[in-house]
Amino acid sequence: MADACTHEDSIREVTPSARGCEECLNTRSRWVHLRLCRTCGHVGCCDDSPNRHATKHFHASRHPIIEGYDPPEGWGWCYIDEVMLDLSDRATPQLGPIPRYV
Ligand SMILES: [Zn+2]
Ligand SMILES: [Zn+2]
Ligand SMILES: [Zn+2]
Repeated sequence: MADACTHEDSIREVTPSARGCEECLNTRSRWVHLRLCRTCGHVGCCDDSPNRHATKHFHASRHPIIEGYDPPEGWGWCYIDEVMLDLSDRATPQLGPIPRYV
C-alpha cells in the first residue's frame, strides 16, 4: 500500500453520467452506495452492492480515482494505490435526487 496517490492528475471535473448507478438503473437492481469516476463521470455502485459496478468500471477502464457520490461525502479513493483522497474542496455536485428502487 502506497503512502500517497500518484494519479491525482487523472482527477477531472466531470458531469455524472446518471443520477444513480448507470447499470443498476438499466437492470433495476439495487445498490448500497454510489461511486463516481473522476476521470469520465461514470456512476457505479460500491463493493457493498450486489453488482459492484464501480470496481468493474475500474477494471474495464483503468480509471483509478472514484469519489463517494452519496451526499455529502467529498472523499475519494484510488484503486491503484488504495489510499483515500480528500476531495472536499473539489467535490462533484449531485445531479439531483438519487433514485432508489428499495
Ligand atoms: Zn493513485
Ligand atoms: Zn450498479
Ligand atoms: Zn471512468
